[in-house]
Amino acid sequence: MSHCAAKKREEGKVEHILPHEVAFDIDGVLADTFRVFVETARNQYHVQVAYEDITEYDFRKVIDIDMEIARDIIQRILDQPIQMGIMPMEGAVEVLNLLAGEGPILLVTARPGRPAIYEWVVEHLKGIDHDLICVEATGTHEEKIPILVRQGIKYFVEDRLDTCYLLASANVTPIVFEQPWNQKPHPFIRVRSWEDIKKMIAWSRSSASQGNG
Ligand SMILES: [Mg+2]
Repeated sequence: MSHCAAKKREEGKVEHILPHEVAFDIDGVLADTFRVFVETARNQYHVQVAYEDITEYDFRKVIDIDMEIARDIIQRILDQPIQMGIMPMEGAVEVLNLLAGEGPILLVTARPGRPAIYEWVVEHLKGIDHDLICVEATGTHEEKIPILVRQGIKYFVEDRLDTCYLLASANVTPIVFEQPWNQKPHPFIRVRSWEDIKKMIAWSRSSASQGNG
């Protein structure tokens, strides 16, 4: 990346991303998963923790939580995302609805199992034809890369910085969805919200008019 391009990205200049070129992570991007982690820890396990305290993706480094409790909550989040009350991030459903108007949407998670999160996705994207929703669960962060490359994805919205470096090395441009755990300096494009994502997409005329209407 040239100095100029890097500078432009830091300033968050709008990119013109074609709808079929972009895919999304689920937890921490589409799903407000860590909010539920924190609320469950506080309300059900009496662990004093705030969302902003999670300043590392590997939260065990920064918050004082019994490992058994953490494992228990994570397992519940993996097995029962609907019942745990995980909600989509603000604006996500609207933007994904618009994207589905352009073609299939691809969601790629490192979760180890697909059925529970697929059920969550279709529950919260009720307005979208199931045939247009593709959910891949890879089990590892590394395995996200070949799937994206195979699908011709050029941009991936992700909250885990280590994964962003992997993406960049495979020529998939990471878009960092800002969270307390990805605030370290990095060279990538960043977005604060789905509204920011919406502005980066080169909508076809019909979607754009829906979006602004
Ligand atoms: Mg994530």
